[in-house]
Amino acid sequence: MKAYKIAAIPGDGIGTEVISAGVEVLQALASRDGSFEFKVDQFDWGGEYYKRHGRMMPENGRDLIKKHDAILFGSAGHPEIPDHITLWGLRLAICQPFDQYANVRPTRVLPGITSPLRHVKDKELDWVIVRENSEGEYSGVGGRVHQGSPLEAATDVSMFTRAGVERIIRFAFKLAQARPRKLLTVVTKSNAQRHAMVMWDEIAAEIAREFPDVTWDKMLVDAMTMRMVMKPQSIDTVVATNLHADILSDLAAALAGSLGIAPTANLNPERAFPSMFEPIHGSAFDIMGKGIANPIGTFWSAVMLLEHLGEKPAADRLMTAIEKVTADPRFHTPDLGGTARTTDVTAAVIDAIHGSNR
Ligand code: ATP
Repeated sequence: MKAYKIAAIPGDGIGTEVISAGVEVLQALASRDGSFEFKVDQFDWGGEYYKRHGRMMPENGRDLIKKHDAILFGSAGHPEIPDHITLWGLRLAICQPFDQYANVRPTRVLPGITSPLRHVKDKELDWVIVRENSEGEYSGVGGRVHQGSPLEAATDVSMFTRAGVERIIRFAFKLAQARPRKLLTVVTKSNAQRHAMVMWDEIAAEIAREFPDVTWDKMLVDAMTMRMVMKPQSIDTVVATNLHADILSDLAAALAGSLGIAPTANLNPERAFPSMFEPIHGSAFDIMGKGIANPIGTFWSAVMLLEHLGEKPAADRLMTAIEKVTADPRFHTPDLGGTARTTDVTAAVIDAIHGSNR
């Protein structure tokens, strides 16, 4: 029997609630399937860890997880710790050294969920946003001088390398090619940002020649937000920079009905390091400990984890179970207008995995 080692990092806030639900569901799938098992190691890194140790994860943290087959991550954030410390100290401290350069964010309106876009019919919104996840606006280059004085100055330099842009655009073309519509939109802001973004456009045109069967177009990021709202059916696969795709994918998650549903995968496509799977949402301290966090974003992230491991039948089984459960309003958590609790949704998904009706 295959045994996969999973590193679970629940983090803070509702991260702990949704990741324990996610692990339960993964274990249910393994026992239903019978051909593989999960060995899950838990790591209590995050804001509470920071308060005890002065850092978000131990110094040798990455060594402890680098041999795992995948990472299931909740959320990092703490009301008493500045966001840039929690982000750079944990999530980015894993993503960047593990070279998880492709951040993949599928968006669909699942059965039973209502999109705020009233005119969107079933299956008309089916996107994958590919976010460059290793450089660009989040490269960490910059600095501050004369802090606190009227002469204070600060820079955040967006740094784009040809190698970094080529690999993410090639990844996006491949993904678009593997989807039925074979349609890719390359998003930039090459009118105002006239150096790196123009390089993106040029590299996209070069890489496009390798994929003659993929139809592609270019959009400025501001126009893209309008297109997502006004003509969602005209979009399939999208590739954009770290910052632009970060913003577009939050919009996408909202248009699909709730931030609580949206999944993401931080992939190291070459598999030199483990990839990391996480719901898009944050720590949501406003609902922490109430037992009402929507675990669907984590379950959908687990689907992506299973696909990455090559366990396609189990991934399909889980996605079918998720769709069966979202179709039933009894299992909608308050973010979707219902009254279900995290445990109700989890139990319903596990029942659906085992094939019984609730
Ligand atoms: P962070 O800074 O950690 O990203 P945030 O507060 O900016 O956190 P979220 O934590 O994602 O953003 O929360 C935004 C809103 O969406 C909150 O009102 C939260 O309650 C709601 N929300 C987010 N995730 C979920 C979920 N899984 N289930 C229910 N509601 C959610």
